Formats: sequence, structure tokens, C-alpha cells
Amino acid sequence: MKRTISSALVSILAAAQAVAQSSPGYTDTPMLPDGKWRVHDATRPHPPIVEPGPASGPAPAPKDAILLFDGSGLTEWRSNDNEAKWAVADGCMTVNGTGDIRTTREFGDCQLHIEWASPAKVEGESQGRGNSGVFFFERYEVQILDSFENVTYADGQAGSLYGQNPPLVNACRKPGEWQTYDIVFRAPRFGPEGGLQQPARVTLFHNGVLAHLDRPMWGATAHRSLPAYKAHAPKGPIKLQDHGNPVRFRNVWIRELELSGTPAVPSATPVAVEAKKTMDQTIAELMAKPEVADDSITVQHVLISFQGAPRMTNVTRSKDEAKELTERVWAKALTASDFKGLMAAYSNDTGPGEYPMTKATRSQMVKAFGDVGFRLKVGEMGVAPWDASASPFGWHIIKRIK
Ligand code: MG
Repeated sequence: MKRTISSALVSILAAAQAVAQSSPGYTDTPMLPDGKWRVHDATRPHPPIVEPGPASGPAPAPKDAILLFDGSGLTEWRSNDNEAKWAVADGCMTVNGTGDIRTTREFGDCQLHIEWASPAKVEGESQGRGNSGVFFFERYEVQILDSFENVTYADGQAGSLYGQNPPLVNACRKPGEWQTYDIVFRAPRFGPEGGLQQPARVTLFHNGVLAHLDRPMWGATAHRSLPAYKAHAPKGPIKLQDHGNPVRFRNVWIRELELSGTPAVPSATPVAVEAKKTMDQTIAELMAKPEVADDSITVQHVLISFQGAPRMTNVTRSKDEAKELTERVWAKALTASDFKGLMAAYSNDTGPGEYPMTKATRSQMVKAFGDVGFRLKVGEMGVAPWDASASPFGWHIIKRIK
């Protein structure tokens, strides 16, 4: 009897442990711009497993391809500004702890074929097993990982756009077997002032199975934080990651493309920097409107303050950082239904955050509450930018609720 109880207990403990291990990831990271999942969300579902066909020999390169690695040497690669030092033997190059390598040439839109194999000897788990990655422009990562019977957070598994979107499928072969990525990368487009015009987009076939179709990226790859765009040149190197695991590569070739004529991504996908334009436009358009006739309104707000603003002793971000954060939170507010959740997560207002006012009492409030609030219909939102007199505490994202 005693043995039965203790063995039952062992089973329960094992089951509990299995649950804990089955959902690596985070619950305290920021929400991604679509408002559905957090960065590396522990609860985000994993895509279905699709067993690909068997591995075959190296895929022959088309005539117009540039061979980036054909097994003979690392002439197309650099390690920072020095010679690349990954181990080359038997037609493949292997990560060996000497750091990331990047192409000496620079690429914009392109079709990349790359073959990789995670170590046959399984060591580590989750992100620690067979981790590497392909970084376009050295910043937009298509994750390489041994995701064969190795659970990690969904936006970090093999074929994920790391920290942003899981692949449509898990088409991983067994550790040690050769795998292929065929990637079409469309570079992001920036305007003359550095604003984002179109996000980067990725199509990926993993072992011949579709993993992403023209999927927009939200910005440069980040760990535990939100991706964002920063303008860069139209071409840049491609980087392969040394994540400390001896991942092998062979047969890497690339075709340069010019995809400027391809249609824009539907606007349903919010992008952090696009919000900048939207927010500034929103402010200008709102302030050009006349005030509403209603005498009494109630607003909620998210205050994003900065170090040095009156009474804000606990805020350490700079004014520039506050503006940037406001743009991101504004982008979330446009898609999230839970405004109070945004207030709880971001507002620096230590008060209730919800304020009734009438036309007679509005002068007792921060001026921007009235200026913005009395231009909104119930349910609408606006933004009051920092202003020394009208909005001295920082940026306010204001929603009229009554
Ligand atoms: Mg990686």
C-alpha cells in the first residue's frame, strides 16, 4: 500500500514537472503589437508537427545564384572585421565558439537557400539545444533550433521569426540530419526621413514545407522585449549566429531580388514605427476638429512621463524614450480592447486614471484632458503630446468613456 501511494505520488510529481517543462517561456514580457501574445509567451500554442520528406543531398544552386558557402572555405564570410574562424571540414562549416559570422557582401531583397544540421548528440533543452539563426541585415532573425522533440516557447522554435511569430508548422528533422531553409526576404523600406514605409517580410520553406508566407516583421529581433525598426541602408550583411551550440551548415546560396513592385502588406498588421505616423496624424487631425457639444465627459488615460517632468520622481526614462513608448502603446491601444490593462501596464499616473469633467471644471485639470477629451466621441481615443503648459507631465493617451 505504502509503495502504491509513493509511486502514485511520483507519477503526480512527474506529471506536474512535465507540465512545467512543456511550457517554457515568459509571462512578464510585453505584449506584441497585435495585442494577442506576449514576447516569448509561455501560453502561446505551438504549431502542428509535420514530418517532412527524408533528407537528401545538397540542393543544386540555380545559375544566377551567388555561392556563399560551397564547402571549400569561408571567403564570403567575416567575423566582425576579421577572418571568419568557424571550423570547415567535410564540406560543412561548424559553429565553434569563435562568434557570429556575416557575409562580406551586402544584400537587400533576396532568396536564400541554407542547409543546416543541429548536433546529432542531443545536449541541452529549449533554447539551449542546437540554437543558431539567420539574421538578415544582421538584425532580422529566422531562428535555427533543434525543435525535434524539444519544446520551447512558440516564437522561439525552429523557423520562428524570433520573438515575433512561430512558423506555421514544426517541420524539423531529427538531430544530426540535414535540413533546408528556403527563405524569401523582402527588406523593409524606409522613407527619406527614416520613417518606416513597409516592414520586412519573410516567406520560409522549412524542409520544403511552408512555414511563413510573406509574413511581416515588427522590427529588429529582440530578446524579451518588443521589436522595433530603426532605419538602415537598403542592403546589409547576412549573419549566422554562434549561440554556443555546434550547429553545422553546408550549401549556402543566394539570389539577389528586387521586389519593389510587390504589393504592400494589408494594414491589419500593426507595426511599431508605422504608429509614429498614425499617432502624429491622429494628433493633428483631432486638434483640427471642433469640440463636441456635450457639457460633461469622463476620460481615462495612460500617462507616459519622463525624468524631469513635474512630480515624476520615480520615472527614469528620457523624454525621447517617453515619446517612443507612447507610439508603441498607442499602436497597442488601436488593436487592444482592454484599455484598463494598458493603464495598469504603462501609466505613470498614481491617481485613479479616470476623470469626469464638465466644461466648467475642465480648467482644474491638466489642460490636455479637456483639449483632447472634448474632441472625442464616447469610445474614441486621442493623444496629447507633451507640452510645457497644456501637458506638462508627459504624453497622455486619452480615451473618452462617457
Ligand atoms: Mg537563434
